Amino acid sequence: MNHLLIINGTLVTAETSRREDLSVEDGVITVRGILDPDLFPGSRVIDASGKYVIPGGFDPHVHFALPTPAGNSCDDFRSGSMAALAGGTTFFMDFVTPIRGQSLMEALRSRRNEAASSLTGYGLHMGISEWNPEIEAEIIPCIEKEGITSFKAYLAYRESIGISLDELQQLMHTVGPAGGLVMVHCEDGEMITRLQQEFLHNHKSRAYYHALSHPSETEIRAIEKVIGLSVKTNCPVYIVHTSTMQGTDAIAAAKRDGIRVFGETCPHYLLLDDSVYDARRDNLEVMPYIVSPPIRRKTDQQRLWKGLSDATIDVVATDHCPFNLNGQKDQGLNDFTKIPNGAGSIEHRMSLLYTYGVLTNKITINQFVNLISARPAEIFGFGHRKGKLLPGYDGDIVIWDPEYTGTISVNNHVQNCDSEIYEGFHIHGRPETVILNGKIVNQNL
Ligand SMILES: [Zn+2]
Repeated sequence: MNHLLIINGTLVTAETSRREDLSVEDGVITVRGILDPDLFPGSRVIDASGKYVIPGGFDPHVHFALPTPAGNSCDDFRSGSMAALAGGTTFFMDFVTPIRGQSLMEALRSRRNEAASSLTGYGLHMGISEWNPEIEAEIIPCIEKEGITSFKAYLAYRESIGISLDELQQLMHTVGPAGGLVMVHCEDGEMITRLQQEFLHNHKSRAYYHALSHPSETEIRAIEKVIGLSVKTNCPVYIVHTSTMQGTDAIAAAKRDGIRVFGETCPHYLLLDDSVYDARRDNLEVMPYIVSPPIRRKTDQQRLWKGLSDATIDVVATDHCPFNLNGQKDQGLNDFTKIPNGAGSIEHRMSLLYTYGVLTNKITINQFVNLISARPAEIFGFGHRKGKLLPGYDGDIVIWDPEYTGTISVNNHVQNCDSEIYEGFHIHGRPETVILNGKIVNQNL
């Protein structure tokens, strides 16, 4: 029997912060309260004095080993899950991305094979990259037989995986009544493609033009349309990586109207601003920051932070999708549309949000736990097992050291990438001990 006692810590959940102890037996939390270690002979005891005890992080949006023309995103399931554990994240959700013509089930089987090397638990969302009667017929079996209830559609990337608004409406019409959820990458793909072509035609090929070809309107328009479809089809929607002030406002207004819409943002929209795309910077220096949607203005950042505290934004996920600068990002040296889009932060998500959110009083520590664990677990159907510290819940627990200070650098990160968009960022607080299924898997003592 594997028995762990965590004593003397402050248990922090989305609702409360309390001085209590936890008993974890065979991977599951069994007792919570003030416990006497003598009554649990043979247990391994962890003294969490001066520390916070929080549910393991739940990151519902990552792309490990994502195939692109520039090669796979450079964290695979093994290295990515290792980086997750280093940062306190014990569960993540990745995507099945069927290629056009492939059945959803076949794509699911092969993605599960790839994900088998993960060191943590994981879940998968089903990507919908085309819409036809065969795909439509697979939706219900996906939900009922495979337990995959979230479907992801892209309004951008029309040439490869994106679908039209009409097709999205049909998808939502099928998924909604079946009890599922549709996640949407909200960028107006047609407008983006037009702008990209105009820039390239005028020999404007540097990385800098990536941001200019994804103006805020492309996101705002798409979010408004998707919210409209949610009303029409009665299907809940989850807006991934919200980056703009007006997009956040649109989500807030929809929530006030009782529409089932969930908002997500990522650390880079909260902590970086468009100065990273400064036209005076070297082309190669800009490339690590090429993400979609692009990093926005300070005013957008401020609205997103407010969105975290007023519950407009439900989740801080990473959209973890790193590419090496050498050999991957630099493939777009003469054409910004060839730079693979994405950056990594699964290792830093919790420390960054704690340091720049909790310690600056933008959010409370309970909101922090909600945003990085409880709320995403609940939205994606894991709310009965993850995101809380209660008897019956999975023994995925982080003992958080609020005193640790350090600096993020490419020289010491666990993520597998030759660049680091948070280079030089100071952090205050990190996981001291990470417990996965009741077993200690990572200890920074
Ligand atoms: Zn993504």
